[in-house]
Amino acid sequence: MDYDVIVVGSGPAGLSAALVSSYYGLKVLVIESASAGGAPVNKYPWKIVENYLGFKGMTGLEIAKRMVEHAKSGGVEITENETVMDIKKENDFKVITNKSEYNSKSIILALGLGVPQKLGIKNENIDSVIYSISNPGVYKSKNVVVIGGGDSAIESAVELQKFGATVTIVHRKGEFRASGENTRKVLQSGIKVFYNTGVGEIYGDKKVKGVVLIEKETGKEDRLNADVILVSIGTSSNKEFLQRMGIKINERGSVIIDELGRTNIPGIFAAGDIVGKWLRIPEAIGEGGFAGINAFKYVKNPYWG
Ligand code: NAP
Repeated sequence: MDYDVIVVGSGPAGLSAALVSSYYGLKVLVIESASAGGAPVNKYPWKIVENYLGFKGMTGLEIAKRMVEHAKSGGVEITENETVMDIKKENDFKVITNKSEYNSKSIILALGLGVPQKLGIKNENIDSVIYSISNPGVYKSKNVVVIGGGDSAIESAVELQKFGATVTIVHRKGEFRASGENTRKVLQSGIKVFYNTGVGEIYGDKKVKGVVLIEKETGKEDRLNADVILVSIGTSSNKEFLQRMGIKINERGSVIIDELGRTNIPGIFAAGDIVGKWLRIPEAIGEGGFAGINAFKYVKNPYWG
């Protein structure tokens, strides 16, 4: 199957790129490894998105649904639960997935930051150690320890408490990295916080029973019981995949693009969280649309381009 643009990833950046390319008359396919809509539907469907102008009070799920419908109505094809394994440059690009092969004149990478950071401690791979929550209701009445002090950790902690979990936060610093608004919410929630505290190991056999806390200043160790441990210490790009394709990334794993959204490989563009500027929906929409128009110019070379 032949396309003008293949977009990898169907979050806000990918769908915005796809809609704009399609609007300009290109044949567009979006390939998504999970459900169409990207992170808002797969990682935080429950979350009220605060900073996307005009969508006040809507959840990640509601926004993602709207975006998917809009893109489809604009002529974009979307395939779900399909993973891109490799992209080869031939005359055009050959995109190889776990299900099929496609040809495309250009590529837009909008994969987001899908790889959760790990703590790298003992027993991190046992049951009930999780890295994001797609359905907070599942943790009702559970004793959940959240590790991390960023926006994702804080928002998840507050949401879990709303759904009836007993939540404790463990953060390695004396104050949160999260925004003032999220910090205010968590301080108001009454959630217990261990500040300046590291995590030694997770204990349990096949399933989590708790975690060893280490007080930073004194090195004193203590045990904290838990049914579930949510490790929320950031996410990164799929560096191995990008490097295999020869895409240049920086030391943080973000794809390096120029002022037109172009990567180092002619015909491959990138947009959204994977370029690592401001990891929010408004940025993703703008960057995606811009990559879409630049992919159009690359493919069609219009006289006004
Ligand atoms: P993040 O902002 O990078 O925060 C990661 C947190 O984990 C930090 O508090 C960090 O501690 C801690 N951490 C990292 N490595 C650790 C380790 N080995 N052991 C213990 N703690 C560790 O990641 P994020 O919360 O996933 O957010 C990613 C980006 O998305 C951020 O820009 C964030 O603002 C944004 N975001 C925005 C919203 C929103 O606008 N509503 C929601 C979610 C995420 P230190 O602080 O000590 O480094």
